[in-house]
Amino acid sequence: MLTCIDVERVRHILVTNDDGVLAPGLWALAEALRPLGSVVVVAPDREQSGVGTSVSLLNPLRLSKMPGLSDDIPAYAVEGTPADCVVLATGALPLEGLRQPIDLVVAGINDGANLGDDVLISGTVGAALRAYLRGIPAIAVSIASLRPRGYDAAASVARGVADWALGGSFGGEFFLNVNLPDMPLSDVAGVAITRLARRSYRDLVDEQEDRRGRKFYWIARGQPEWQVEEGTDAWAIRNHRISVTPLHHDTTQRAALGELAELERRLRGVVEGAR
Ligand code: MN
Repeated sequence: MLTCIDVERVRHILVTNDDGVLAPGLWALAEALRPLGSVVVVAPDREQSGVGTSVSLLNPLRLSKMPGLSDDIPAYAVEGTPADCVVLATGALPLEGLRQPIDLVVAGINDGANLGDDVLISGTVGAALRAYLRGIPAIAVSIASLRPRGYDAAASVARGVADWALGGSFGGEFFLNVNLPDMPLSDVAGVAITRLARRSYRDLVDEQEDRRGRKFYWIARGQPEWQVEEGTDAWAIRNHRISVTPLHHDTTQRAALGELAELERRLRGVVEGAR
């Protein structure tokens, strides 16, 4: 009986992003998820791309209610990171329109792909990771273009994934990173469940001088170096497929555990030598 009541309960969905609360992809996502439950937007007040899952520990977080962006979707802007937004919204803050528990966190729709090594710095993926670490089903959604032609395809796919997730299909040991090629759904070649590619950037450092003659530096992303093996997320996007990658928090290299016996022996010597 309790189960029946639980199934009937309105689902609470948190939508966030790293492109900022005014980004059109965020609102396309919030609108697309509206039929699935009660949607609340809590997003950074400005772009936070590249901040990963960082949480603000040294600054106070200010939060303002956004007026009237969408009739029945309350929205809050946070002077902080995407992960801060998740922590605030899932931390039982008594905000108008925000009901607990949050059943699902969806981050996006991000302008630009989050593939391969990028997931380690992505604020979009970082928000989903933060939700996953708090035990909440989470999905990150990105379009593989910094200037997407539109959000309809990604919004439809996000709704499909969210519907599946809210149906209780999430195992709990992963969250999902979804990337789409920038094209109408009718042109998409298919869907691939993928693993992360090795896709690394050679970051460039650009030195400049301010008007007082002090040097400052820009870190800029160079051309990515791809290792596009079949079955990876980057391969899927290159082949015009929607990529869905299950991720989790554990970056332990298990294959190396056995290779570190000599290091362990040496360190034991260091410790014993101090006794
Ligand atoms: Mn972004």
